[in-house]
Amino acid sequence: MPAQKKAIIIGAGPAGLAAALQLHRNNNIAITVYELRPEPTTMGGAIGIFPNGMRLLHRMGLYEALLARGSCVTHMEIHSLQNGDIAKVDMASWAHQQTGFGYLRICRRDLQDVLLTAVAEERIPVSYNKRIVSVTESPTNVTVTFSDGSTDTADMLIGCDGLHSSVRRLHVDPSIVPEYSGIAGTQSIIQSSNLPDALRTQANAFMTCNGLLVTMPCSASGDKLFWFFSRETPIPHSESGNARDGWEERRQREVAEYKDTIHNILDTGKGEWRETLTELVNRTKFIGFYPVFRLPLGGKWSTSRTVLLGDAAHAMQPHAGQGVSMALEDVFLLSRLLRDPERSLDDVFAQYEAIRRPRIMAISTLATKNGKARRDVSPWKLRMKEYMAWATYGLYNRLGLESWGIRQQHLVYDIDEVMI
Ligand SMILES: Cc1cc2nc3c(=O)[nH]c(=O)nc-3n(C[C@H](O)[C@H](O)[C@H](O)COP(=O)(O)OP(=O)(O)OC[C@H]3O[C@@H](n4cnc5c(N)ncnc54)[C@H](O)[C@@H]3O)c2cc1C
Repeated sequence: MPAQKKAIIIGAGPAGLAAALQLHRNNNIAITVYELRPEPTTMGGAIGIFPNGMRLLHRMGLYEALLARGSCVTHMEIHSLQNGDIAKVDMASWAHQQTGFGYLRICRRDLQDVLLTAVAEERIPVSYNKRIVSVTESPTNVTVTFSDGSTDTADMLIGCDGLHSSVRRLHVDPSIVPEYSGIAGTQSIIQSSNLPDALRTQANAFMTCNGLLVTMPCSASGDKLFWFFSRETPIPHSESGNARDGWEERRQREVAEYKDTIHNILDTGKGEWRETLTELVNRTKFIGFYPVFRLPLGGKWSTSRTVLLGDAAHAMQPHAGQGVSMALEDVFLLSRLLRDPERSLDDVFAQYEAIRRPRIMAISTLATKNGKARRDVSPWKLRMKEYMAWATYGLYNRLGLESWGIRQQHLVYDIDEVMI
């Protein structure tokens, strides 16, 4: 019997934990996960997962646990602060019909809990407080050294360490560096008791001259409401000239001023929504600030014994809501390719890239396009945008185009059906 293969996974985010589960269960690979943070941590807020990702989570046996915590959202109502309701947008009903899975909005912490619980049940070790400092490959194995002096050696190294991946920077492709998208936002989760039903049961988006304000329920009982305000934000220049300092100064300012910023925008509106959103902002106790970075398309994703998955390979703007689903598709494909004992690692990684690149290119392009809805516009241009949304979605709904799957084809993609 051949010896059991071993893989090191760097990063305990969605990509790393899903890869650990899938490769341990389906490929009988011994896994150790190494995480930089001293304990399980997320950037906070809530995340949306579309049917293509939910189907894979179901195959991993995690669907019921996620459903018990998250909120199934079917529609988003678009509003104008000045001119009332604009359109009702179907989120994924055609894709739901095709796949059996809808759209779930869930707190990041809950998603992480569900994944970590499954990892613990499989007795996969996760080692925290581990900062990788170097990687060396030989023809037979790969060795990782950490800042505490410890090392580990395995057949394969899987970099799941996100946008600022050290595996990418130290080893796979240092030439690929994150680029700022021009969009940043603030976000929070609040208790939704006594807020109108329209906030607790559906998603709502408010187009403004200076960004997009979105609310979404994010818990199964409907008691939690996630909101974010995403807008064009110039790159900060710090007095010290250090980009990191610049972002820290900007974060502090945005956090200190977010209530005034949003109140000023709400003051231009009228009607019930103005009062409701004022209450929503007043209720907010903790706020997160996130500048949106992405990776340029291209670059290397693998070497002889190392491969990048998820954001480490292809972080994209979050505006297609597909980051987690893309990571899951990566994981499922890698696992499938590794199941074939005839394939060398070189062949596995080459096939993985060949299959994933076009899909990532398409979704990343969609995300960048969607991000443009946050750009600053004049009041006149906003009125035009509102009119276009009213006309387009009105036509879409009147003609029943949702039953044709328009705009939802990418949500029924099944990575397990792709020819390898
Ligand atoms: C504001 C915002 C909103 C988003 N909304 C959505 C959404 O609605 N739906 C969706 O699908 N996606 C969304 N995304 C994208 C999504 O968060 C990512 O695509 C997803 O988290 C990628 O998972 P990952 O495991 O590849 O990376 P990450 O989630 O970044 O996890 C990487 C892990 O690696 C660890 N790590 C980092 N460096 C090291 C190191 N050197 N050594 C060890 N460990 C390390 C980190 O601490 C972290 O635990 C959003 C992103 C942002 C910024």
